[in-house]
Amino acid sequence: MATITIQGFERECNCDHCGRPLKLGVQVSTYGCIGADCFRKLIKPNPKRYNGNGLPSADWVKQLAIIASKGDKYAEDRYGLYGNWKEYELR
Ligand SMILES: [Zn+2]
Repeated sequence: MATITIQGFERECNCDHCGRPLKLGVQVSTYGCIGADCFRKLIKPNPKRYNGNGLPSADWVKQLAIIASKGDKYAEDRYGLYGNWKEYELR
C-alpha cells in the first residue's frame, strides 16, 4: 500500500504537483510541497475516516500541515491526534 505522510507546511510556494502558486503548501513525503486540493486528489477516499466523500476538507488538510509542524505531542494534546494520523493511502 503506497502512502504519503504530512510533514509540515510551507508559505508562498509553488505546488510540486501542478505548479500552481500557493499561499500555504503542504509538505508531504514523495511529492514535496503540494496544495491542499492536489493532496485531496492524490489520496484514496476513506469514508471510515471522513464522513461523506471520505476526504478531509482542504481547510483541514492545511490545518493538519500546521499541526504536523508543531510535533506529535502538540497534535495529541491539542487535537487528540495520535497514531498514524499524518499518513494517507494514495489512490
Ligand atoms: Zn497542485
